[in-house]
Amino acid sequence: EVLVIGSFMMDLVFKSSRAPKDGETVIGESFKRYPGGKGANQAVAAQQLGASVTMAGKLGADLYGEEILKVLHQKQINTGKIIIDSNETTGVASINVDAKGNNRITIVPGANHAFTENDLLKIKNMLFKHKVLVLQMELNLNVTFKAVELAHEVGIPVILNPAPAAIIPEKVLSKITYLTPNESEVELLTGLKIFDIEDAYQAGEILINKGVKNVIITLGSKGAVIVNEELKEFVPGFKVKAIDTVAAGDTFNGALAMKISKEIELEKCVQFANASAALSVTKDGAIPSIPTESEVQNFLLK
Ligand code: ADP
Repeated sequence: EVLVIGSFMMDLVFKSSRAPKDGETVIGESFKRYPGGKGANQAVAAQQLGASVTMAGKLGADLYGEEILKVLHQKQINTGKIIIDSNETTGVASINVDAKGNNRITIVPGANHAFTENDLLKIKNMLFKHKVLVLQMELNLNVTFKAVELAHEVGIPVILNPAPAAIIPEKVLSKITYLTPNESEVELLTGLKIFDIEDAYQAGEILINKGVKNVIITLGSKGAVIVNEELKEFVPGFKVKAIDTVAAGDTFNGALAMKISKEIELEKCVQFANASAALSVTKDGAIPSIPTESEVQNFLLK
């Protein structure tokens, strides 16, 4: 009942004591490969937390694409609408991490950016079969914005996670049911720096005035705020021992989508999303750190 239209990425993580300089070669200590991409991460989160998820997007005809597809199958995500493009490479991110933990990242979107408006129109007629559409901004922006428009036309709610951050035109904002920026993304969207909850309320209000139905701003370990026409509410986060915050936002969005697809009251959805995301920061990695529905339920009982 959840449809994710989004990105796939193979993260290639190189660890070396220091990053190479121009023209230099350094010998690294380790290399690891992690399937992900914001779209895939959010799809896995929603599915693993209790939704039945269909994912659409584009992979290259290569080993990374096969590997990502295998992960999605293992998670029992419906992959029937994923296009394999033999002219493209699967999206990759080369991530160099030095001893201090500093990153240098090169992303090649590849097949993700080859997912066109035409590809989108081919799945238009399946939109209405879903309870909610989940989007991020790792596909071409024009495609993402068109998807918002189509969902609005059909009358299904849209969650847009505006990551990586970019300006969103007002005519698109006014068609978004749930917008889920983090602090830096909401700053780019509103020009407001977020230091406290009051700032988040104000930023939310700016976006509501531009026509967004519900703004949910994630505030890291603090939790999240909900702003809409009726309310401004702070939903506190959960205290955990943070190991690795990669994919916290993706877990939050997937969890939110799962709950929204079951037509649960928004405050409860955000509580569950906070709990799911908190659990994800207690584990390393992106997809491997996403909790299951029963793990979150047990955590909430404590
Ligand atoms: P992003 O990962 O996109 O930058 P945030 O840092 O705002 O987004 O995190 C998203 C959500 O993950 C938060 O709203 C919160 O629920 C949860 N979260 C993030 N960091 C922590 C943490 N250190 N402890 C508990 N929960 C966290």
